[in-house]
Amino acid sequence: MNDSRNFIEIIIDQDLQNGLDPDKLCFRFPPEPNGFLHVGHVKAIVLNFELAKKYSAKINLRFDDTNPENEDQKYIDAIKSDVNWLGYSWDEERYASDYFQQLYDWSLKLINEDKAYVDSQTSEEIANQKGTPKEPGKNSPFRNRTAEENTMLFKQMKEGKAEPGQHVLRAKIDMSSPNMLMRDPVIYRVLNASHPRTKSDWVVFPMYDWTHGESDYIEQISHSLCTLEFKPHRELYDWFLDQVVDKDKIRPKQREFARLNLSHTITSKRKLLYLVENNIVDGWDDPRMPTISGLRRRGYTPESLKSFVRAAGVAKRENVIEMSLLEFCVREDLNKKCNRMMVVQNPIKITITNLEEGHEEMLIVENNPEDPSAGNREMVFTKTVLIEREDFSDNPPKKFFRLSPGNEVRLKGAYIIKANKVIYNKEGFVDEVECTYDPKSKSGSGSEESKRKVKGTLHWVSSTKNIHITIREYDRLFEHPSPGQFPPEEFYKILNPNSMSVSTARAELEMSKAKTGDSFQFQRKGYYIMDKASPSQNMIFNKTVSLRDNWKKQAK
Ligand code: ATP
Ligand code: MG
Repeated sequence: MNDSRNFIEIIIDQDLQNGLDPDKLCFRFPPEPNGFLHVGHVKAIVLNFELAKKYSAKINLRFDDTNPENEDQKYIDAIKSDVNWLGYSWDEERYASDYFQQLYDWSLKLINEDKAYVDSQTSEEIANQKGTPKEPGKNSPFRNRTAEENTMLFKQMKEGKAEPGQHVLRAKIDMSSPNMLMRDPVIYRVLNASHPRTKSDWVVFPMYDWTHGESDYIEQISHSLCTLEFKPHRELYDWFLDQVVDKDKIRPKQREFARLNLSHTITSKRKLLYLVENNIVDGWDDPRMPTISGLRRRGYTPESLKSFVRAAGVAKRENVIEMSLLEFCVREDLNKKCNRMMVVQNPIKITITNLEEGHEEMLIVENNPEDPSAGNREMVFTKTVLIEREDFSDNPPKKFFRLSPGNEVRLKGAYIIKANKVIYNKEGFVDEVECTYDPKSKSGSGSEESKRKVKGTLHWVSSTKNIHITIREYDRLFEHPSPGQFPPEEFYKILNPNSMSVSTARAELEMSKAKTGDSFQFQRKGYYIMDKASPSQNMIFNKTVSLRDNWKKQAK
């Protein structure tokens, strides 16, 4: 039997077979609001939200907001809008900070049960006693404080009577556990920071491991899915749950899947923040960023990102996905959706000598050959037109199927033209090409001549009826295929100095109707999206991707 389920779905189906009530299935996506979401998060989002859809289960968006020093409301807002943009909505918006009181109360319970203690050593001293994976750690001299003393000290911490670093609360587990994470992990510390939500109400903040599992339990999350690096944390996750779980309630199950790693880019909010803070890129939504907002501004669609993470799959083994797969997915999607436009970037003038001065003729061209419902548009054909300089050669190599003296090409959607005379400027460069057109060869007219085959078809625009636009083209941001290996301070060694180039171009008049966020296929070039509009400037188009894969070529 062909089983298309991923391993998480298999686990869920087994749980259901073993008696788990399907109504009790519940998922969550738990970002920390310390940066914008990136392409790696798309995988976790799609996984959790699609499971919720498949099993008609509840799903929460939970902000894991336990590090006020790095977190901000602007990140909360961006995360919500990115998840919505992907096409998902959540049942409840939750915050780990909503559970600070409950977590504090449970910590007092741990203290009372001799399962937590206040340690008054410095963080260096604590680190020095941790041992190594082969050697057991050493007990803290404060490990045997009484419950009364611990309670008093922990309350003082909460009341702001302790300096950051003066005391921490640690779970009392096992300093000789082979799992280093079980060696009396710190579960609370004092921070002098205002929290985006609780402001100054709390100065003791729970650590991630203590917070995460208990938050899953409070929300009755049945399956808590996280990335593989949390596998060693599972033992601790379970220990923490053991301390509070009520056997009549759902006990969340942590399961780990492999991170999505993408070649030539980084998927770490901390490193992305470095690019933003050091102005290496122009903000979180710079089209070179692998953030959801950057990809959106680059022209990626929600469908293309979803089909990409589906193609990458959900598995238990780490791997690196090639950027060319991401580009393949967006090309496929845009090919179906985008209207075509003609844009000439580096023009050369063509004069059609057998047309009257001032000739203007409206041609009907099809918007998208992949989608007849996209209809047609008008393009104006005039005595002088522009084609790309590279589409003409006065000294053509063999198999040059574009325009050259004595040869014919078709102007797309228009007529067949023949080059007769080349006009050079003083420096000897081609200034203009005089051509004649075949009036009977009009595209789509049904005449014999309209069906005449010529080797090349070129895109063009009228030289008098066009608009100026600005084009931004992007190349890889990093020259190294795995920039994630480098600490941010060394990024300067591997950044591509030419990751963005800006140029102007001429577009057909129809383009003036474009709006921010509209995507087009510029014929023979690629896909482009209109950026934010500015009345004083040309319209700006960001290049999403070229028509063909050029990673293979670049890799050489
Ligand atoms: P970062 O290192 O970028 O900050 P993170 O894991 O700390 O990533 P969180 O905000 O904690 O970021 O992530 C929210 C969820 O997204 C977690 O469940 C995490 O496992 C998942 N996630 C993060 N990065 C990836 C990735 N590259 N591939 C798949 N899932 C990811
Ligand atoms: Mg994290």
